[in-house]
Amino acid sequence: MSEDKSLNFIEEIVEADLNIGKYQSILTRFPPEPNGYLHIGHAKSICLNFGLAKKYGGKTNLRFDDTNPSTEETEYVDSIKEDVKWLGFEWAAELYASNYFEQIYQFAVQLIEKGLAYVDDSNSETIALEKGTPTQPGIENAFRSRSITENLQLFADMRAGKYKDGEKVVRAKIDMGSPNMHMRDPIIYRIKHAHHHRTGDAWCIYPMYDFAHGQSDSIENITHSICTLEFIPHRPLYDWCIEKLEIFPSKQYEFARLNMTYTVMSKRKLLQLVNEQHVNGWDDPRMSTISAMRRRGYPAESIREFCDKIGVAKRENLIDLSLLEFCVRERLNKTAMRRMVVFDPLKIVITNYPNTTEYLESENNPEDLSTGTRSIPFSNVIFVEKDDFMEVAPKKYFRLSPGQMVRLKSAYIIKCDDFIKDQDGNIVELHCSYIPESKSGSDTSGINVKGTLQWVNAATAIKAEIRLYDRLFKVEDVANAEGDFKDYINPDSLQIIANAYAEPALKTDNADVAFQFIRKGYFVIDRDSTHDQLVFNRTVNLKDGWAKEAKKA
Ligand code: ATP
Ligand code: MG
Repeated sequence: MSEDKSLNFIEEIVEADLNIGKYQSILTRFPPEPNGYLHIGHAKSICLNFGLAKKYGGKTNLRFDDTNPSTEETEYVDSIKEDVKWLGFEWAAELYASNYFEQIYQFAVQLIEKGLAYVDDSNSETIALEKGTPTQPGIENAFRSRSITENLQLFADMRAGKYKDGEKVVRAKIDMGSPNMHMRDPIIYRIKHAHHHRTGDAWCIYPMYDFAHGQSDSIENITHSICTLEFIPHRPLYDWCIEKLEIFPSKQYEFARLNMTYTVMSKRKLLQLVNEQHVNGWDDPRMSTISAMRRRGYPAESIREFCDKIGVAKRENLIDLSLLEFCVRERLNKTAMRRMVVFDPLKIVITNYPNTTEYLESENNPEDLSTGTRSIPFSNVIFVEKDDFMEVAPKKYFRLSPGQMVRLKSAYIIKCDDFIKDQDGNIVELHCSYIPESKSGSDTSGINVKGTLQWVNAATAIKAEIRLYDRLFKVEDVANAEGDFKDYINPDSLQIIANAYAEPALKTDNADVAFQFIRKGYFVIDRDSTHDQLVFNRTVNLKDGWAKEAKKA
């Protein structure tokens, strides 16, 4: 974190707390529910929670908020751990709300004993009805005045499995007339005969979020419990429980969740995209999940930089996806190995080049010369991109057309002498001549050309599959677009180039290296690659193509 940047409002609170000696050191937590994969919004919460601890010499717990057995799975727990680690953070302890089920149960018993909770036999419709509305107070029902002894017995019976789902709940006895609906005797325990991914069948009652989250914070002595704005109305209940149970006074603070253009982030929606096969799994590179971004080749540093750049706000806003792409591009420009790949090949025969293979040196990354060079085979038959030739070229077309010269990257200047068409009039081959004195690095030709093209040597080129990704949605604000969000899926979000031609170095390059395919964009090897078939994902374009579109419009 940079020193000269002003503090965000949570940092201000933390610094004030430390300055007055309220805490010796801070303890934060990242509390995912293991009901899906983490997305870029979670990355913001992770960077904030772990970032605070890092900056102020504190610690961060990874706590799985696993109080809803029907949607949670170990697969999600594992992916969450992998993602947090990959983002570059280390948790002080790996904890589970389910570890505390016994203690949370005892907390509820204590509330009952204090006359601050009761068992309600009403069904959910009645409870909702009796809650009133924001403008009308709720009704106190007959169960509210049950005796402590009866409540204790009924709660024990609930735990023992005497009742079916929904037959009874435990409610905190607070205030049915409160202007805050969350304070109108909120449900704190419910019956749910379901198998839990960690506690198995040990429990058939589970605490509600509002009676598990704050309690877990207190049990762990969390100093700053940071969550998103929608939990503001829950805060009085959070504080009420701490006060009545006389437990560690964790404090809740709320910040604006991250929303991003052309993206959905709710796990429920992401799950729909996966289940209905609009994408190929949680880590499909078009998804907003961290695992998708990793697979797509986004560096973890770029995601952290992005989270730092957008800051911590108190009001919701919509962040431009191109800001994230900017962070990715900036980093990759410094680190990516330059390679040459031709997507749609046009054969060139260099008529005056001898019938041999020459090996040319080319820098791996001009931004970082410590990465050295590689050698690239060159001979008299090469491929260039089909759209780098025009039979009749407009002015300022600095590529190939009859009589025109270009430089082949790290090789020679060539001149287009002739072209061959097939029966249908398609250009199938160019005949060019090369200038022997124009070799890159020792050019004495004195010829200046404006265009430089990437190329591959025909005899040694390897074939590769290239996956080009575009935004998954066609509209900016997907979450607020009218109707079903799936109606806005971009049908052209994935384009596959089955047979691109790549320079042979890519065959031996490491799988976790980032590449810049010259004039094409940034790419990374996909895990679908096999020994015989390399598959590349486009991480991001070289330039922001959408910004150009927007300007044109
Ligand atoms: P979703 O609505 O996407 O399912 P969630 O809030 O239910 O997300 P949790 O697993 O409960 O997901 O979230 C873990 C933590 O991440 C919480 O503290 C939550 O506030 C935070 N978080 C979730 N989404 C965002 C977001 N878009 N921006 C910032 N923080 C987020
Ligand atoms: Mg949640």
